[in-house]
Amino acid sequence: MGRRRWYSGRVSESNLQILLKKRPVGAARESDFEVREAAPPDPGDGEVLVRQRFMSLDPAMRGWMNDRRSYVPPVGLGDVMRAYGVGEVIRTRSDSFAEGDLVLGLLGWQRYAALEARHLQPVPAGIDPKLALGPLGMTGITAYFGLLDIARPTAGDTVLVSGAAGAVGSMVGQIAKIEGCRAVGIAGGEEKCRWLLDEVGYDAVIDYKAPGNLYAKLAEACPSGVDVFFDNVGGETLDTALRLINRRARVVICGAISIYNATERPEGPANYLHLLVKSARMECFIVLDFKDRYSEALAALGEWLAAGRLVYRFHVVDGLENAPSALGMLFDGSNHGKLLIRVD
Ligand code: NDP
Repeated sequence: MGRRRWYSGRVSESNLQILLKKRPVGAARESDFEVREAAPPDPGDGEVLVRQRFMSLDPAMRGWMNDRRSYVPPVGLGDVMRAYGVGEVIRTRSDSFAEGDLVLGLLGWQRYAALEARHLQPVPAGIDPKLALGPLGMTGITAYFGLLDIARPTAGDTVLVSGAAGAVGSMVGQIAKIEGCRAVGIAGGEEKCRWLLDEVGYDAVIDYKAPGNLYAKLAEACPSGVDVFFDNVGGETLDTALRLINRRARVVICGAISIYNATERPEGPANYLHLLVKSARMECFIVLDFKDRYSEALAALGEWLAAGRLVYRFHVVDGLENAPSALGMLFDGSNHGKLLIRVD
């Protein structure tokens, strides 16, 4: 499968790898990682050697660094940090992929990865490979199922989204609009709010970093209340939004980035009884819950993208060695779009 291209089969550079050295306390720091140069691995039987081109940085990575049971095991101390990436097959010992094919998989924080072919997905030739880590990857799929399967919005609903200018949040608002809903976003800073209004198509946006009372601003932006709250942030934002939910509202817990770096036990949402009096529902999900249905999401997202109905942007940081510092951008909001590392 895939186009066959000429390859020398030579792997000229060493394998730059970034390992988790210490379990971070609070925000991850560069000193929690170790940079190492190793020999590129030799692919075993059924494996392919991939040279990574773009690597995804995700808020969930902070959770993977904790020594705590989660939906995936923690990254071990001394192990290469976990990450999704897109790369090119350099050598193959599998019939599934040819040299030169582009593939997506858990390549990790390293330049080269040898992985079993069954753990890799082909990236269609001719598309921007970054798309497979953004709107046509986990980001888009998360927004698609989180909104359409968990929240199940109907036309006319007010859909409130926190982290609205982020990779997932910007997709959620656009899918809500496609479904005929009113999309209201919460984001930090003037530039992000302008982008959401002028280009992404949100109907109203609240800058939570601007002075003023968040509840008052949300109440003004959602005069008919909130039917769906798609939450990427948690903490105070969730607690405030709960006060505005309508009868039979759906609160989707996609993430809670405001507490991922917490060093103390976070407080629960004090306003949860609004769920009771409104006969509302709060539901969490992990995108992996839908792994058998990814193709369904990708078909819809691909169609919308081809029709020019989805706006997106990438924030690309050059150099794998910058991954530890770039991760912090997700937590201070300095990423403007899906955060990626250009490895190659
Ligand atoms: P983003 O591109 O949204 O980047 C993170 C953004 O979060 C920042 O740019 C910042 O935006 C905002 N943020 C950071 N800290 C805070 C804070 N304390 N309060 C408010 N906003 C904050 O990342 P993703 O789109 O990749 O991820 C968004 C969320 O989706 C995360 O919670 C993530 O864990 C979750 N997720 C869940 C999945 C699932 O399967 N359930 C799968 C993928 C992602 P701003 O400048 O606006 O503050």
